[in-house]
Amino acid sequence: MKIKGIVAAPGLAVGPVFELSAPPVHVLHETVAAAAVDDERARAREAMARYYETLRLCEPMTEIERALLNATMELLNDPYLEDAIVSRIRDLHYCAEWAIEAAIEAMAREIQALDDPYLSARSVDFEDLAHGILMHLNGADQSSFELSEPSIIVAEMLNTSSLVMIDTSQVLGFISEKGGISSHAAILAQTLGIPYLIGVPYPHEFIHTGECIVLDADAGEVDVQPTVEEIAAARRNIATKRAKEAQWDAQRDEQALSLDGRRIAVEANIGGLDDLEFAKERGAEGVGLFRTEFFFMAQEDYPDEETQFALYRAAVQEMGGPLVVRTLDVGADKALPYDPLEAEENPALGRRGIRFSLDVTGPFRSQLRALLRAAALGDVKILLPMVSALEELERVQQMIAAEKDALRSAGTAVGDVEVGVMIETPAAVFLADALAEHCDFFSIGTNDLTQYIIAADRTNAKVQHLFHSFHPAVLRAIDAVIQSAHHCGIPCAMCGALAADPLATRLLIGMGLDAFSVPGAQIPRIKDVIRQCDVREEQAFAREVLAKSRLDEGLDLIREHEGRWT
Ligand code: PEP
Ligand code: MG
Repeated sequence: MKIKGIVAAPGLAVGPVFELSAPPVHVLHETVAAAAVDDERARAREAMARYYETLRLCEPMTEIERALLNATMELLNDPYLEDAIVSRIRDLHYCAEWAIEAAIEAMAREIQALDDPYLSARSVDFEDLAHGILMHLNGADQSSFELSEPSIIVAEMLNTSSLVMIDTSQVLGFISEKGGISSHAAILAQTLGIPYLIGVPYPHEFIHTGECIVLDADAGEVDVQPTVEEIAAARRNIATKRAKEAQWDAQRDEQALSLDGRRIAVEANIGGLDDLEFAKERGAEGVGLFRTEFFFMAQEDYPDEETQFALYRAAVQEMGGPLVVRTLDVGADKALPYDPLEAEENPALGRRGIRFSLDVTGPFRSQLRALLRAAALGDVKILLPMVSALEELERVQQMIAAEKDALRSAGTAVGDVEVGVMIETPAAVFLADALAEHCDFFSIGTNDLTQYIIAADRTNAKVQHLFHSFHPAVLRAIDAVIQSAHHCGIPCAMCGALAADPLATRLLIGMGLDAFSVPGAQIPRIKDVIRQCDVREEQAFAREVLAKSRLDEGLDLIREHEGRWT
């Protein structure tokens, strides 16, 4: 039986299921006798302590995981939370499960109403937190996450706190019912090259731990009860794919030249130094997007200039090629534990990205200074997220100029940095000609650009069927942005997920994209597709696709040519 899902990270996998959180966490809505209250309190406290201990023993593999881990541990340590749970058991005689669920739900609601900035920053983690404590109440511990063999993880929701407890080197694939294609879990899967399908209705009756399933995250489906023949066919496909990957890998360290000799840069998206090492192994020619927020999120306070300088210095020295560092991009679903966000009705439309940095200018200036100093040691470029006005770019440039002067006057070595704008809001698309005149490069963030152009939340599984970066409106916006950049003589890169989709490569080259920045795992593949492109042919192809006004018409055209790459 095949079940459709939405691709969060491509790839194929065959193997046994590992049901995360199996059996599912059941919350009993029962009260306990007065005599049992003390025991119940002890159960709740012990579950919190065991969960904390499980997390403490985790060894995060990436900066993203480290940040998630720290945020959850901080919540578990919060006396307010413990009190909210314990008082429900003591005063209302709720059983521990109910008290935990009710306390955390109430806390999330109260936080919105109280408008308490300290707590509101943590509200995004609450669902995850309740899940983690309840699992530990039901007897889960680190061993619940230990995979005895390479497996496909199946979960209702790929909770980030569960994710960090899994040894990802044993994971063949991920499947979840809830979640979005640009959630942290999806970014992690893309970075590590693990296939991940979301929006798959949890087929409890068909999927059981240990049973073999076939996950085809290229085609967007999972076969939950495959026949012996289907399993054999899937294994053959994987073997063929591995052989192809070996071919791509053989050339991963070579530059990517199109058939007619155009050099197209293929760089990496990283969240920290661990990712950088992996990306270099996969043939990255530089870093096209360093998401610095994960480093900030893993700290206990704003990292000072020296701490940041050490990080950027290590990155530029390790990379040896261009290092495009995006300034702090918090807001919406990403919060700093030490400088929480005020509650907002629509956080994705709120104080995020450059808006936040221009508000909290002290830490922003430290980041700019650290970057200017690192630029004295190599090719460092600054990339600004969520720009929606020319004035924002101008303000940042004034700040950069002032910090540069100050550092120079103090006798500190600084380098020249190019400043680029992320194109991820409709405002930036319509202002691209003006922005291009005032900056050094563009990088298109298709994750946010798609969300804002289509008005479809990138983290909401219910609207993922609408969230499509091949939507004609998104493609036309991308084309217009590239043309504006070239009109002003600046290069245009792309660092959103579309850049890593091999189906889009030909089209983007036809539109004139200069550089692709993709998760490390995808680098050899994208280079391989570029090598099969002929720029002039792709230009004609891109015009054909751009003339289509329906998603399916454009996709049909694109798929017609897919044979060239498979
Ligand atoms: C994007 O929006 O496409 C992007 C690359 O930034 P992030 O996914 O980190 O928001
Ligand atoms: Mg973005």
